[in-house]
Amino acid sequence: MKLVVLGSGTSVPHPRRASSAFWLETSGGSLLLDCSADAPHRMAQENLDWINLDAIWISHLHLDHCAGLAPLLFGIKWTPGINRRQKPLKIFGCEGITKLLKAIDESSNYKLFEQPFPLEFHEFAPTEEPRQVEMLVGLSAQILSTPHRHESLAIRLTDANGTTLVYTSDTGYAESLAEFARGVDLLILECSFYRDKPTVKHLELADAMRIAKLAGPQRLLLTHLYSVWDEVDLETEAKKLWAGETIGAYDGLRLEIRAPTD
Ligand SMILES: [Zn+2]
Ligand SMILES: [Zn+2]
Repeated sequence: MKLVVLGSGTSVPHPRRASSAFWLETSGGSLLLDCSADAPHRMAQENLDWINLDAIWISHLHLDHCAGLAPLLFGIKWTPGINRRQKPLKIFGCEGITKLLKAIDESSNYKLFEQPFPLEFHEFAPTEEPRQVEMLVGLSAQILSTPHRHESLAIRLTDANGTTLVYTSDTGYAESLAEFARGVDLLILECSFYRDKPTVKHLELADAMRIAKLAGPQRLLLTHLYSVWDEVDLETEAKKLWAGETIGAYDGLRLEIRAPTD
């Protein structure tokens, strides 16, 4: 798998961090993990083949994770040459995505659902037990509810090469999440705050590293970074709490993810 960090930030505007979005290339196709308002233009900035994007995952309905969906569908519709695209665009995620899109669509008759190619929607109810879901051929997935919003979901992906990735998106602390991410090749974990977090619905560094310790990922990528992190060396602080490899996400970071060969 190949990962490109499009947005390592939050809902609060930041000069160097767009809000949440990650581009992922897998053996089964390309996948956008969350689609913030910044995501459509960030994909173009990174020279990614967004016109042929296979699937989108929406973790929850906070706008820093889904507000780019309507603009993306609106933009794709008016892209020169889009008539040549025939394969479907599959949109997966939490409950409420189509309701949100319909409300926007009807507000000004944008015809977002009328595309020259099929649009498929697959919404999943909250689940306290990991649940297997069908995604793309050559890419399987499990989902799990997170203590953030009623609808919020984490996702675990396994491609045909056996490479695994977990994207928690926004979450409070939960050991079930560590279990869900056990032994994964890359754990993309939120780490909103350094310390003294103002809410139980996000993580601070000590929480994130406790999850890392329990989960034991090959590599850990910390993201969803508020501006409190601007003055802190995240990777050095992380190392004090967990000996494994922690990477602080930044916009434009590219990672190659492989299952270990032994
Ligand atoms: Zn968020
Ligand atoms: Zn959120």
